[in-house]
Amino acid sequence: MALTGLEIYKLLPQTNCKECSFPTCLAFAMKLAAKQAELKACPYVSEESKAKLEAASAPPIRLVEIAGEEGKLAVGNETVLFRHEKTFFHRPGLFLRLKDSLPVEELKKQAAAADAYKADYVGIPLLLDGFAVEACGDPAAFAAAVQAVRSVTKKPLILLASAPEAAKAGVEAAAGTRPLLHAATSANWQAMADVAKAGKVPLAARADTLDELAALTESLTKAGLEDLVLDPGVTDAKDSLEKLTWIRRLAVKKNVRALGFPTITFPGADGKADEVLLAAEHIAKYARFIVLERFDPASLYGLLVLRQNIYTDPQKPIQVQPGLYEINNPKDSSPVMVTTNFSITYFAVANEVEGSGWPAWLVVTDAEGMSVLTAWAAGKFDSERIAKAVKGFGVENKVAHRKVIIPGQVAVLSGELEGDLTGWTIMVGPREAVDIGAFLKAMWVN
Ligand code: SF4
Repeated sequence: MALTGLEIYKLLPQTNCKECSFPTCLAFAMKLAAKQAELKACPYVSEESKAKLEAASAPPIRLVEIAGEEGKLAVGNETVLFRHEKTFFHRPGLFLRLKDSLPVEELKKQAAAADAYKADYVGIPLLLDGFAVEACGDPAAFAAAVQAVRSVTKKPLILLASAPEAAKAGVEAAAGTRPLLHAATSANWQAMADVAKAGKVPLAARADTLDELAALTESLTKAGLEDLVLDPGVTDAKDSLEKLTWIRRLAVKKNVRALGFPTITFPGADGKADEVLLAAEHIAKYARFIVLERFDPASLYGLLVLRQNIYTDPQKPIQVQPGLYEINNPKDSSPVMVTTNFSITYFAVANEVEGSGWPAWLVVTDAEGMSVLTAWAAGKFDSERIAKAVKGFGVENKVAHRKVIIPGQVAVLSGELEGDLTGWTIMVGPREAVDIGAFLKAMWVN
């Protein structure tokens, strides 16, 4: 729980020596509470006070990071329950389970296919985050499976091993990366803690009740482990919602440190048919590592788009860079079209132009990420801005004609724009992007 300025003040030396560059200890305390100063600026804080202040300033849910040879994933650090309180930043990772009982070549084939998955969502690449390799028995087979998966992907791994010997073999096979090891239980936690400590990797703790889970993480913390992940063994939608919400609520609102860790779930485990539905629920509330049983590009796309929409700031629209975009290799006789830099608007227009087969120049104006009508209503897409973009992006050096097409929704700007873009003819395009092809066919003559 964050301390107030006065509570912090009581932990300071109260000598007002000014060495922290603040006139009094109280002024320094207020700045600390507002997170506008750092504790190390005061050289006289006692070790005891320092420990209390650092513990109080730690986030209620620990940030845990795993890494592959290239990609990495950091989850946790949440301080709120709801997205309207504060933007969610550390989005959950989606992993695919691969069992070491598969023949090595099949394992590689499945991993490579999922590793290659890439979809585009308004200019944002959507990818699977990594793989969860499961030990089915023999430690040597597990190590071979981890190496086989590593030979086709550089993404982060989760090592699923309940036997410490297999866990050790897996961690050694993953050397040079930082996988998540799953899982310590009340039966094996000491041996698993030793493996995690030796390999310097985060460790997931698994228990069926929150009380058992908290007791387990307390034992692991006392054993010297800091980077922990919680597996509350959720089953159906109701159980998931209850347990994951309780964990988040107890950590964020009640500062229960034993539950202040990110969570891991297996929505399709035990052959559950509703894996995608459950995974969607877990993305929203509140799993941070989600292990899928099946690689299905169509389902994965839906989950990744859902995640993208939850883990963005709703007050900051997704934008594309303003500029002059070339579509279908335009020439100096090709049409010049204008739109705004709101991603969805840009892609709607660009995709329609591209699909129509017309080579064209697309002037993307800086409308602060708003769509055409919204930007116009807000004064962010007016004649002055359009003229500035056309001139600023050097359109006149790219085309031999002097015609520019504006969106039909802002036809009202055409008169004023003729004044701001002297020598240019302003054409009013269609209201909807879907009509661009037909419009060009009927109207574009050069
Ligand atoms: S350096 Fe420490 S003791 Fe001195 S004024 Fe600042 S907070 Fe107080």
